[in-house]
Amino acid sequence: MRGLYIHIPFCLQKCKYCDFVSFAGCEYDKYMDMLFCEMTEYRGEAIDTVFIGGGTPTGLSVSLLEKLFKNIRQVFCLDKDCEFSIECNPKTIDDDKAKCMSEGGVNRVSVGVQSFNDDELKRLGRIHTAKDAYNTINILKKNNLHNINIDIMSALPKQTISAFMSSLDKAAAVGAEHISCYSLIIEEGTPFYEMNKKGGLFLPDEDADRAMYEYACDFLQRKGFAQYEISNFAKNGRQCRHNLKYWNCEEYIGIGLAAHSYMDGKRFYNTANLNQYIDGNFHTDDCLVLSEKDKIEEFMIMGLRKTCGISENEFLQRFGQSIDEVYGDIIEKFIVSGHMIHDCGYYRLSEKAVNVSNRVLCEFC
Ligand code: SF4
Repeated sequence: MRGLYIHIPFCLQKCKYCDFVSFAGCEYDKYMDMLFCEMTEYRGEAIDTVFIGGGTPTGLSVSLLEKLFKNIRQVFCLDKDCEFSIECNPKTIDDDKAKCMSEGGVNRVSVGVQSFNDDELKRLGRIHTAKDAYNTINILKKNNLHNINIDIMSALPKQTISAFMSSLDKAAAVGAEHISCYSLIIEEGTPFYEMNKKGGLFLPDEDADRAMYEYACDFLQRKGFAQYEISNFAKNGRQCRHNLKYWNCEEYIGIGLAAHSYMDGKRFYNTANLNQYIDGNFHTDDCLVLSEKDKIEEFMIMGLRKTCGISENEFLQRFGQSIDEVYGDIIEKFIVSGHMIHDCGYYRLSEKAVNVSNRVLCEFC
């Protein structure tokens, strides 16, 4: 079965570091009508994971959310065990909305907390405080939404290691089942990019960034969150099945502005132009038909992000040749250098390699 990603590209305010396709202060209704229209192109598809992301999907009104959940169920055939996630920002949730999500079939909520330190949140341009994050989590739990992911960011402007530790501690203590922990990346075209160019961001240096990451891996493990991907940690059985589809190179349908899909060996892309999308021109002409070589490379690069690594058997079954035939020399080199480990039929990155994972992964393509 395929995954389904739905993009809601609206936010109440643009964060200073954000380069996602999202807009502040727009009219939602017309966009949602066109989104429902695009969905019908895939009528009847069997789906076992849904992920509504953004932007801020929980910025939609209760009636639009109800309509969205109803349309998803009417158009697609959702598996009875479907994982149904939605991204949520603190300060965009109240009891009615959480109830509507719960009744609409949502069973996993990813909360963009980013930090429990109000000064850091303010610097990031987030609309919420730590208190709002606690309120949001309480409201979700009160409405039977217990499978909660919390996003936490590291390497923030002026962030000390102890401030990061405190945020992580609070994320674990508040009862999250899953924590995603990403370093801030300064992207071109964002206010942070300009501020950083002028030396006004005061970012932690590389050593501090690495220390925060290493602390997160160790601390979360001690708190019962197993690391299953470079930046993702979950309690038992709470790994995000939708994101695993990306890392396992499985198929998914992307609906909405700038969404992309992977089906039948092809990657294709929706327009990132809001006016075009609202005019009903959903798709671009970009379509990448993956060669066998492309598929193998993607399988390696995505698969090695997982802490379990890549199964030799699965490689053989997918591609009809052994992983050693294709990558024997490179793998051998990384095993000797201590960057890769071969264990119980799996190849995976060692702890040493995680810090230089991009450099290691590059060699597989
Ligand atoms: S809430 Fe998320 S998508 Fe919206 S502006 Fe902030 S970082 Fe970007």
